Amino acid sequence: MLNPLIREVNKLNELIEFRKYLHSHPEIANNEENTAITVKEFIQKYSPDKIIESIGGNGIAFIFEGETEGPTVLIRAELDALPIIEVNDFAYRSTQKGVSHKCGHDGHMTILAGVAHELQKFKPNKGRVILLFQPAEETGEGAERIINDPKFNSIKPDYAFALHNLPGFNKHEIIIRENTFAAASIGMTTKLYGKTSHAGHPENGISPAIAVSEIIKQFNNILKHGKTSDLDFGLVTVVHTLIGEKAFGTSPGTAEISVTLRTNSNDDLELLKTVCSEIVEKISHNENLKHEINWTEYFPATINHLTAVEIIEKSARELNLTVNKIEVPFRWTEDFGHFSKVTKSALFCLGAGKNTPQLHNPDYDFPDELLPTGIKLFIKIINTICSDN
Ligand SMILES: [Zn+2]
Ligand SMILES: [Zn+2]
Repeated sequence: MLNPLIREVNKLNELIEFRKYLHSHPEIANNEENTAITVKEFIQKYSPDKIIESIGGNGIAFIFEGETEGPTVLIRAELDALPIIEVNDFAYRSTQKGVSHKCGHDGHMTILAGVAHELQKFKPNKGRVILLFQPAEETGEGAERIINDPKFNSIKPDYAFALHNLPGFNKHEIIIRENTFAAASIGMTTKLYGKTSHAGHPENGISPAIAVSEIIKQFNNILKHGKTSDLDFGLVTVVHTLIGEKAFGTSPGTAEISVTLRTNSNDDLELLKTVCSEIVEKISHNENLKHEINWTEYFPATINHLTAVEIIEKSARELNLTVNKIEVPFRWTEDFGHFSKVTKSALFCLGAGKNTPQLHNPDYDFPDELLPTGIKLFIKIINTICSDN
């Protein structure tokens, strides 16, 4: 029989190989068919009691039953990679042109594979564990589709957890916060319709140019002038504008402004949406323009439930991990926020190293030394909820 220590090393090496395979075969959101197959083939070895395929698109869930009835704990990883060209030249670099795992979802999936391996060896006393691999996180579509899929009813959890690796923080540090952990955001595109005219006679048309500059200025002033004093945090970031055509003989007749709205709560986001819409209405009315507003890429705030946060914190401390309770929520968004609407959930971050390239950077790569930390912490969390003592 193999020495347990050697067995652990072998196991870790196998997981690292799996992570590298996922890294070299990335697929973008809504194209994760092969990633789901790879995950299925690998995790099947650990004898899950049930597998639910094609949930919310390419999603796949593995159910590990406990010995008796009890709470359902869901742990989530993400299947998708990003449309980013990888600049790393290591042997396991991406083989897919223009696509790469630059958010570490390959690492998150591998952590769940490691959890599956542990669950095969040590069944939970009670309840059950769902290991969920969700599609399309980067586009903010996957979590919501999973929750709205009728198949979700059979795995509806009492608790949902997820981790995200985070460069810029010490390796193995657990970063957590109760209530809002990450922001809510939405994309707003405003179209303005006026009338083109000869550039020599702009007075014969209706140019949206002044309205565009005024809208941007007022968007910028919303948070400065206390118009939304209820908001403790709000940000309107201009991401794109377009006025007319590059035709020097023509005064423009149309324009488009795209901005991202960002707040710390879903209610504040609704408030900010109203304020921004009113600004567009007022200015387009004053400038004699017609307007149209479209909303896209909605990410609700990730609201961490107190009980779920306490379980993570207790588990991390028992493993002697450093717990960093941040005071201010993160400004980035995560579609895991959808789970906070249906269950007691919490997302936490796992420090990925002060000098590790930032997420979505072209030279980023998930640090494999985080794998055992993530696996141990999830197992601890599961045991806290699904054990009798
Ligand atoms: Zn990402
Ligand atoms: Zn991510």
